[in-house]
Amino acid sequence: SSLEAEDAALIEHRNKVLGPAYRLFYEEPLHLVRGEGVWLYDNKGKAYLDAYNNVASVGHCHPKVIEAITRQLGTLNTHTRYLHEGVVAYADRLLKTMPPALGHTMFTCTGSEANDLALRIARSFTGRQGVIVTSLAYHGVTEAVSEISPSLGDFVPRGSRVRVIPAPNALTVAPAEQGAKLAADLAAAIASLRADHIEPAAFIVDTIFSSDGLYPDPAGFLKPAVDLIRAEGGVFIADEVQPGFARTGDAFWGFQRHGLVPDMVSMGKPMGNGFPVAGLALRPELVDEFGAKARYFNTFGGNAVACAAGMAVLDVIEEEGLQENARITGAILKQGLKEIAAGRDDIADVRGTGLFLAVECVEGGAPNARLAGRVVNHLRRNGVLISATGPGANILKIRPPLVLRRTEAERFLEAAQEALASY
Ligand code: PMP
Repeated sequence: SSLEAEDAALIEHRNKVLGPAYRLFYEEPLHLVRGEGVWLYDNKGKAYLDAYNNVASVGHCHPKVIEAITRQLGTLNTHTRYLHEGVVAYADRLLKTMPPALGHTMFTCTGSEANDLALRIARSFTGRQGVIVTSLAYHGVTEAVSEISPSLGDFVPRGSRVRVIPAPNALTVAPAEQGAKLAADLAAAIASLRADHIEPAAFIVDTIFSSDGLYPDPAGFLKPAVDLIRAEGGVFIADEVQPGFARTGDAFWGFQRHGLVPDMVSMGKPMGNGFPVAGLALRPELVDEFGAKARYFNTFGGNAVACAAGMAVLDVIEEEGLQENARITGAILKQGLKEIAAGRDDIADVRGTGLFLAVECVEGGAPNARLAGRVVNHLRRNGVLISATGPGANILKIRPPLVLRRTEAERFLEAAQEALASY
């Protein structure tokens, strides 16, 4: 059709102007023109149930967020070197969602910048250099954080001061052993750094291990490793870019499920529902010296519009009971997926918490990327959006906006049932 020809021309033009580093989702890339709530619409007017978007977390184009952004944009948009109530009120509100020990918050525009700042502060506070991450971690795009993002592949160097430990594994490690295993692997990584005369400054994890393949359970398994890094003189950084802002249903922050208080918490993605808002919450003493010696100014981070967006998102999560919805609707999805998976020897596990779920596809015990890829593309053709993740690209990742309700969850399950039954 002429629209398909138009899309082909757009892909070609896109490749010409953006170059080779960009990727599109799906065998048939999706050309979107509009979004509303949990729905996205393409250029042919077709509706898609978005079961993957954790940025537009309170729903695409939420009217309250749009209103807050446009009102502030039409009033004043300046940065943190002028006195303004907005940034103070938002920082105060955000900190109220955190344990009291995390007394300061600093604003950036991206999760990458938040992690980059966390590394700078961890290294200045400890006077050390070593960082430990999990095997398929993703923490962002700057040179420093791409060094601690093994999911980018071997082409992006890890650097001599970084050690990689195995991520949790739901298939090979018994739930009761998960915590001890992670701590033992961390201890080995610390010993390996020390063998090279490098002291550990920080242990950083995404507290739901999203890019590693999604490992939320058993809640609490992170604690022994966090206790260990502190005993060894390093700090613990919780990357909450994915699990944060009520997604796990059980708690507002992923680390809370593990019954611990991090030294620093990085945040991003859903924080402004698509408007670039990100940041760091931290124990005040960590930034004392850094703050006295190195000023921090981020031109757009914490500007009046960003803070208005962030505040509106917190309002909507509260007013619409989205943490509770994530818990309840997430449980419906998980139960439904378990029923679909029952009796299939090519699905080894269904796991997740709240509106963050994973279905692990296998073949004879090995990762089955072919099945996962087929299901993802089949669902896309039928108007449902998910993706696949993990070391073998074999783990279906289901992560809808937090406003997904029961009827849409049921619709999702019907589509998933049909898609899996086809292969
Ligand atoms: N940490 C995690 C866990 C992420 O998922 C991401 C983004 N995928 C980032 C950090 C980086 O955030 P940003 O893309 O906003 O720089």
